[in-house]
Amino acid sequence: MSADETLHVTCPACAGVNRVLAARLGKEPVCGRCRAPLLPGRPLELDGPGLERFLARNDLPVVVDFWSPSCGPCRMMAPQFEQAARTLAPGVRLAKCDISAAQDAATRHAIRSVPTMVLFRAGREAARISGALPAGDIVAWVRSVL
Ligand code: ZN
Repeated sequence: MSADETLHVTCPACAGVNRVLAARLGKEPVCGRCRAPLLPGRPLELDGPGLERFLARNDLPVVVDFWSPSCGPCRMMAPQFEQAARTLAPGVRLAKCDISAAQDAATRHAIRSVPTMVLFRAGREAARISGALPAGDIVAWVRSVL
């Protein structure tokens, strides 16, 4: 992307759509509506409707970890996913969706096992991978797709 390109970035707090210059992505942009940090560099927690709003108008790639609190490998992967979020910020956004509380999202995205990570580009699925991974492998997978 070029530095003067404008990107739509959904706010994780209010779901407002912000327009951010690509050159400013790394400068801790805040939401024009609610002032929340747009790209906090940690995984966002999204419920089912929140996930759809988040994906609808957002130009940055999003990796969603579909997980469940009752899944041991999911819990083990959580700190790895947080580390990957720091490594991939600000160009890639990471989010978590607890499918035990968002079964509509699990159905819509055809999640058959947890953890499953789905990479979305412009709101559409670009790739998915199932099973817990260490941070380095998450980052390598994302970069191999983008
Ligand atoms: Zn906001």
